[in-house]
Amino acid sequence: MGAIVVVDNTFATPLLQRPLELGADVVVHSVTKYLAGHSDVVLGAVLARDETLLARVRQRRTTAGGVAGPFEAWLAMRGLRTLALRVERAQDNAAELARRLREHPAVHAVAYPGLPDHPQHELATRQMDGYGSILTLRVRGGAAAAARLTGAVRRWLPATSLGGVESMIERRRRWPNEAPTVPEDLLRVSVGIEDVDDLWDDLAQALTASQEDVPS
Ligand SMILES: *Cc1c(COP(=O)(O)O)cnc(C)c1O
Repeated sequence: MGAIVVVDNTFATPLLQRPLELGADVVVHSVTKYLAGHSDVVLGAVLARDETLLARVRQRRTTAGGVAGPFEAWLAMRGLRTLALRVERAQDNAAELARRLREHPAVHAVAYPGLPDHPQHELATRQMDGYGSILTLRVRGGAAAAARLTGAVRRWLPATSLGGVESMIERRRRWPNEAPTVPEDLLRVSVGIEDVDDLWDDLAQALTASQEDVPS
């Protein structure tokens, strides 16, 4: 009772999910990701309907800093102009890659809310206008195979960020502070807007390379 519900809507963007309409009190976005979309600016946004809540956020911004510079704001606005095109293309690519990855013998799990057997597929279908372009896969052969995969990609960018025009892949457990519930062989993928067959060809050769030394 009385709890304030805050939703991080970074992965979805306002085009695919609008948490304020679904009852959330506050929505936060890393503008760094899809909204700006070009991996060249670090910005955030906080949204709320309630003026009192917003006043508290503004007060905090005023006293603690975190005010966007004009150039950063301009970069974000420039990126926003193509948000719809980028989101649409990236999620088409993600859906296709999720389907292909699922069939690949080196992959033992794919998580993407657009796949009908994802545990929250029905929820995502009900409350979202699309499934976005973040997915995870688990590769056979554990941490070593997953690390070989990120070392073998050429078009994909092995990187921590997400939501840019370029496709990125990362083994999250390489970071010591990542939750131990995240599997060692899990790769997080942020699918970009490149040609989907180019992305697949590169991923497929890296998957093959990842299986070196893995007993079949
Ligand atoms: C990157 C990210 C953040 C942090 O945002 P920055 O703009 O990098 O400070 C917060 N939430 C999610 C879901 C993110 O992906």
